[in-house]
Amino acid sequence: MADFKWEVGSYFSSKDDFKEAITSYAVHSGRNLKFTKNDNVRVRVKCKDGCDWEAYCAKSSREETWQLRKVNDVHSCSRDYNVKMMTTKWLSKRLQKSLKTNPRMKIKDIKAKAQKKWNVGSTVKVGVEPSQEGSQNHLPYFKRLYICLAACKQSFKFSRHVIGLDGCFLKGLCGGQILAAIGRDPNDQMLPIAFAVVEGENRDSWTWFLELLIDDLGGKNECLTYTFMSDQQKGLLPAMDELLPNVEQRFCVRHLYNNFRKRYPGKMLKEIIWRAAKATYAQAWEREMKRMRLINEEAYLHMMKTPPRFWSRSYFRGTNKCDVVVNNLSESFNSVILEARSKPLVTVSQPAVNLSQSVSQPAVNLSQPASAQGSKTSTQPSKKSTQPSKKTTTRPAKLGVRRPTTPFVPPGPTTRLSAAKNMIGPTTRRTTPTKRTTPKKKN
Ligand SMILES: [Zn+2]
Repeated sequence: MADFKWEVGSYFSSKDDFKEAITSYAVHSGRNLKFTKNDNVRVRVKCKDGCDWEAYCAKSSREETWQLRKVNDVHSCSRDYNVKMMTTKWLSKRLQKSLKTNPRMKIKDIKAKAQKKWNVGSTVKVGVEPSQEGSQNHLPYFKRLYICLAACKQSFKFSRHVIGLDGCFLKGLCGGQILAAIGRDPNDQMLPIAFAVVEGENRDSWTWFLELLIDDLGGKNECLTYTFMSDQQKGLLPAMDELLPNVEQRFCVRHLYNNFRKRYPGKMLKEIIWRAAKATYAQAWEREMKRMRLINEEAYLHMMKTPPRFWSRSYFRGTNKCDVVVNNLSESFNSVILEARSKPLVTVSQPAVNLSQSVSQPAVNLSQPASAQGSKTSTQPSKKSTQPSKKTTTRPAKLGVRRPTTPFVPPGPTTRLSAAKNMIGPTTRRTTPTKRTTPKKKN
């Protein structure tokens, strides 16, 4: 990334020259700048509302020269990944040189190049808290971070429309939690869609995360057709009801059973619950529940509090082409990033970003009939599975899940790492967490 240093008194040969420099600066530094004045003798540029960044350039009265007269080069805003100044016209100028040297360059390559260089379509949001009164630097404090990469968004379109939501604790000095949305590709492999680092799992943080996720996945109407799977986390259910009322939800049966077991232990009841969860038609589910009632009326009433549409296959919708009853991919994600969870924020984000970047276009199209998919899954291993399996940190899938043909292999260190660092560097480096709590152990 080019470094821009604005100095009062700098000369520009023309107005366009200055505007060009401003546009390049805006794109490279991720700032949504706006020309507030733009006439034959003056140009004034400002950053978005609330930020004091400003530059003013004027034409010299004696000669054909433009000079930077005033600049306030300090931003109080965060980096933006939807820079409006990045237009096709600007981009075509950047690509002119490479096109001249390689006139046979394909559109596909140009697209990939631009995507890689400027990270088009990815979403990175930093939530901040306004500085407290009496603080010295008046800078806002870091609160939350959200990352959703463009490739993940794209891949999700070709995947099973089931999203697993889960949170896990960060073990570093500053505490906090990671919230993650994990999808499932047609090969039943893990597809990280988005993740966020937040201060804790509560209604407010889940709402913030889900709002951004819904935006990234195509809006509310689109998301109402998806299925969300969770462990009934604190704050998540009210946030879901508020943002996506009546959307299909599933509760992880392993998690449901763990709660159930505390009050009603026993192998017999366990088997009944799993049989009821995996029942493929309503009568089978009813039969198992009747059996449970005969054994333990109280246990039956406890289970009936959660309607079967949340946990039994017999009541699931078929449209999302997925019948899993456990949220194991979310837990696998948490364990893949286990080592990083005790590291500082940028380091935490890297494995998650790397994981997300390793996502390739799924090999199977979901529009194909289920039978064709089955055969393809078994004969054509996905790209990931052909990697040498050096280390597998995923927990093996247990009961009630369609087992992936090969275990998920976390990607090794890649050169994309530096790109990831660039991407999240500027926003995270000057962060100051406000809350310091001792994290509770989970997993
Ligand atoms: Zn700014």
